[in-house]
This record gives sequence, structure tokens and C-alpha cells, in this order.
Amino acid sequence: MSEFKIHNSLTRQKEVFTPLYPGHVGMYVCGPTVSGESHLGHARPYITFDVLFRYLQHLGYKVRYVRNITDAGHFEEEGRAAEDKIAKGALLEKLEPMELVQKYTNLYHWAMLQFNCKEPSIEPTATGHITEQIEMIQKIISQGYAYEANGSVYFDVKKYAENFKYGILSGRVLEDMLETTRELENQDEKREKVDFALWKNAPAEHLMRWPSPWGYGFPGWHIECSAMSSKYLGQQFDIHGGGMDLQFPHHECEIAQSEVAHGELMARYWMHNNMITINGRKMGKSYNNVIKLTEMFAGTHPLLEKPYSPMTIRFYVLQTHYRSTLDFSNEALQAAEKGLQRLWDAYAILQQLSYATNGTGLNEELDKQVQQLCSECAEHMNDDMNTAKVMANLFELAPVINSLRHGQIKMHEISEPAFNLLKQTWDTYLIEILGLVPQKAEDSDKLGDVLQLLIDIRKEAKGRKDYATSDKIRNQLLEIGIQLKDEKDGTVSFSVE
Ligand code: ZN
Repeated sequence: MSEFKIHNSLTRQKEVFTPLYPGHVGMYVCGPTVSGESHLGHARPYITFDVLFRYLQHLGYKVRYVRNITDAGHFEEEGRAAEDKIAKGALLEKLEPMELVQKYTNLYHWAMLQFNCKEPSIEPTATGHITEQIEMIQKIISQGYAYEANGSVYFDVKKYAENFKYGILSGRVLEDMLETTRELENQDEKREKVDFALWKNAPAEHLMRWPSPWGYGFPGWHIECSAMSSKYLGQQFDIHGGGMDLQFPHHECEIAQSEVAHGELMARYWMHNNMITINGRKMGKSYNNVIKLTEMFAGTHPLLEKPYSPMTIRFYVLQTHYRSTLDFSNEALQAAEKGLQRLWDAYAILQQLSYATNGTGLNEELDKQVQQLCSECAEHMNDDMNTAKVMANLFELAPVINSLRHGQIKMHEISEPAFNLLKQTWDTYLIEILGLVPQKAEDSDKLGDVLQLLIDIRKEAKGRKDYATSDKIRNQLLEIGIQLKDEKDGTVSFSVE
């Protein structure tokens, strides 16, 4: 069997994954800033790294998966008036900051549950680790790579670049950045525009602030991840993941801080998922295309034609390799919905089939093809987690399963080991690793009952020549993809698209 290779953003190439400690993997993924509701852009990294978590466990590793909650310190502007996103949100919604944090943490957890994302091993909060962050900042100052200004502390990027490889992850060149930012320079308390805050001074009216050696203030976003990852995974650990948008400045800053404080590179493998676009456009407030997950599930955003289930979204996300861009559109999601249904139909058949032969004649070619398509799934996962190719193989196997049921392919045409491998592959990849959850039988039973009720009402309406009502029921069901067919004997059958 091949070895598990991952694309390391640090070296920009695929590398065989070898953990620091045999049998164990430490992995850190940047969690959400809980100042608002999660949107579609959040779905991709968490689904992607959930599959990584699952796959590493499948490979037999004991994985410690740390995913933080940013409940303080995330601010966009680094000028004097830097405002913490949580504090800003709390003011807007007239809530206590921790009330806001609780609200959106709960919503985030709920969304993760809908996506069937496993819970991380540890979910540390930034506010719960202020002491660790202060200690780390002190270390950086004592090494001479940070300076204090008016009660705030900044990382000295220029000095860092003299002794370390600044831009190692993002490929940014400091000289170019200094060049482009020089003109924007104002009376900033920072020595250089590229310097970033480790600690921000906060006056008394500030909603969230903590005492520190530099006075009251709050930590910078980047230092949170450096402090929490090293606390739970060690100064050096295996995998650090996140969305590509975090590569710079967030991850580059994490690397710089950790390297100065600990004297070694923090993570050995960096993994980044690519971005999501909506109808070919970057997601952004100005395009009014930031779709919240609750809007997605309920179909309430103006760009959506209908609701899309969490499993449809999970399936759609995994149908594309995580390093490729992914475009969301109604068309693509509706195709995904149908695709997923095809897989479930085949999976349901597979559950009912068992190997029993009442004939002879092995179809060697078919037998070989089935075994190959199954064993290739491991190869695809090992090739930088190519979930798209795993899906493609399952789609190639689906017609074989359908034919086994309908008798176009007789069971004796494939061998018992091939059949067992087929069953095992669907359970392992579709359910365990890709983490898709079949629609509950209960739900479809209930749907059947509701449908029968509608059929009865329509029959009654027809009986009293109320064709307006009977047509309405038929047409509206057709709109949602359920076709009623009146049989000659008076019964009504239906088919679901
Ligand atoms: Zn982070």
C-alpha cells in the first residue's frame, strides 16, 4: 500500500506524512471567531479537516485535534482605535460580550453537528488562555523581537527577517511589503506598518480587557493560536491547517512568534484548503453573497432557489479536491443532491445484498475491476486526500451494485472477496471517512406517510370534481420532484426524481 502523502504549503510539494512521534498525530486547525454566524466559507475548512481527522484515525493514529474558539482579540484595523470584533458585535447586538460568544459558539457547534463533523479533542478559547499568551509575549520581548509602545506590544518584523525566514509560508518578500506600505505610514505607534500587534492597550471603556505587564489590554489574534497550539500539542507538532485566506498574515505571524519564542518551527506540515466562490464570484459583503449556514439549510437567502441539506453541502464540498477552488451555484448544488441520492440508493441496495451463489461462471474482468475500484480508494486518499477521486470510484461502482440487484449481473460473476471488499469500501469511505450520513429510514417513512395523505386528499378532491385542488397537489409535488402517476386500476404510484 502507498504511504499517506500531503501537500505541505511550507515546502509547496507533496510529502510523505511522518509524525513526530510514531503512532501519534498532533493537529491544530484555526477555529472560528464567534462574533457572528458561520457562513458558507466556514463550511469548507471544517469539513476538510474533519475528513483529515477521520482519515488519520482510520490509518490507526491516535490523533489529538485542537481547534480553537477565537472569543477575543480578532480585529481588522491595527491603528490606535483597533476594535475587537467580539466587543463590536456585543455593542451592536446589545449583549454582554460573553453572551454573544456563547450564542455564536452554540450556533457554530450546532452547524458542525449538522455537517457530521466530529468534535475536536480539545477546543480551547482565547479568553481562557490569556496567561499563556502574556507569557509568550514576554518571551518574545526578552528575545528582542517585540517592543512596547503606549501599553501595546508589537512584533518587530524587520528584525525577525534579519535572522529568520520571513515569508517562508506565504512567499511574501519583506522588501516589497515595506515598499508598498511606506506611503501609507502615518503617526502609527508601530515602527513599521508590517509590524503586528501581540497585545493591544485598551482604555477603561473597552468591554473586554485584561491586566498585563503593559497595563490593561487584550491579546492579538495571531498570538492566541501560537500560545494554544504549543500548550496542547508541544512547541513543535505535526499538522497545522486552515483556509488559504489565513496563510497571510495569520499563519505567517503564528510561525514568526512561535519560532522566536521556542526556537523551532511550530508545525511540520501546513495544509490549506482553497476558497469558495458563489456563482463565480468571491464571497463578500459588497456582493451580498455571504450566505449563512442557517440560510443555506433553510433556503432563505435571495440567491438560493431552495434549501440545501447539510449532507448535500458536505458531499458537494468533498466532491472537489480541497486545494481547488469550489464554486457554489443552485445548479451545482441540485446536481450534487441528485448525485448523493444515487450513492444512497446504491448503498441501500448494498445493505440488503448478501453473497449467495446459485450459479457458476466468474466474470474475471468484472471481478478485477470491482476489486481495483475499491482498493484505489485508499490510493486516492493517500494522494493528498483526494476525496473527489474517491467519490468518482464510488460512482463507478454504483451501477455494478444496481445491476447486481436487478440481475443484469449475477452474483456469481464476482468473487466473494470482491463482494466483501465492495461492502467494506462503501462503509469505510462513504460513511467512516467522508463522514456522510444516510437519510434516516424514519424520515423517509414519515415522508411516505405524508405523501399518502396528499394522494388521499387528491383522490377525494377528484371525487367531488374539484380539479383545481387535485391539479394543485399534482403540480406542486412535481415542482419538488415527486411525480404522481395514475394507474389504470385507480391506484396512484409516485416516483421521486
Ligand atoms: Zn490561528
